[in-house]
Amino acid sequence: ARKFFVGGNWKCNGTNEEVKKIVSTLNDGQVPSSDVVEVVISPPYVFLPLVKSSLRPDFHVAAQNCWVKKGGAFTGEISAEMLKNLGIHWVVLGHSERRLLLGESNEFVGDKVAYALSQGLKVIACVGETLEHRESGATMDVVAAQTKAIADRISDWTNVVVAYEPVWAIGTGKVATPAQAQEVHSALRKWLQTNVSVQVAESTRIIYGGSVNGANCKELAAQPDVDGFLVGGASLKAEFLDIIKSAT
Ligand code: 13P
Repeated sequence: ARKFFVGGNWKCNGTNEEVKKIVSTLNDGQVPSSDVVEVVISPPYVFLPLVKSSLRPDFHVAAQNCWVKKGGAFTGEISAEMLKNLGIHWVVLGHSERRLLLGESNEFVGDKVAYALSQGLKVIACVGETLEHRESGATMDVVAAQTKAIADRISDWTNVVVAYEPVWAIGTGKVATPAQAQEVHSALRKWLQTNVSVQVAESTRIIYGGSVNGANCKELAAQPDVDGFLVGGASLKAEFLDIIKSAT
C-alpha cells in the first residue's frame, strides 16, 4: 500500500517571525501518526535550519530546489550535498514555477532528479500541464514527456514521489475536480506501468497539487490514484492540519 503523503510548499514566503508561528501551529496540531501519513514541509532555503531544528520530529523537511550536480563555482545555487549536510532528506524538483519562470527544461529537471537521488535525497518531482496544453488536448503528452525525462535517467523509484500539479490550478483557486485529478493520476500510473514497471507503478506515490484546501481535500483524497497532496497557499495556514487529516 502507498502511504499517504502531504507536502507543504511554502514557496518564496515567510519572515523569521512568521516561520516560528507556523511551526508552532504545526507542532501543536493533532494529526494521524507517521505510520499513516508522511508529512514534508518545504520552506525557503534560508529557513531550513530553523525549521529543521524546531519542527516536530514526525514531520520531515524538504528544500524547494537544488543544483543539478556537485557544488562548486555556481553562484546562487545550493547543492544536494549541502542539504544532506544539514540533515535535510527531501527536495522538491521541477516545480512548474521553476520550469516556466526560470526555464527549467524536462531534461534539466531529469538530471536534477537523478543527481539528487544519487546523493541520497528523496525527491518530490513535479509535473503538470498548462491551460493551453489542456485546452489543446495535450495534457497526457506533456505529463508523459516530463515523466519520461526522469524515467530515462533513473532506475530506482523508491525515493521518488510524483506531484501532478496542473499549472492552471496552482494559486488560482481553480482546483482540479476529483475526476480530472483521478484521470491524469491513473494515466500517469499506466504510463509508469508500461514504461517503467508494474512494481514501480503500484508503489510510487502520485500526489496532487493546485488549490488544495481544507474543504476540497477529502473528496480528492478519496480517488484511488490520488496518494496525497502538494499544498501551496494553504500550507501556510492552520488549515494545512486539516489537509493532513484527509489521510484517514
Ligand atoms: P497552491 O496550493 O497555492 O495552488 O499551490 C500549489 C503548488 O504549487 C504546490 O507546489
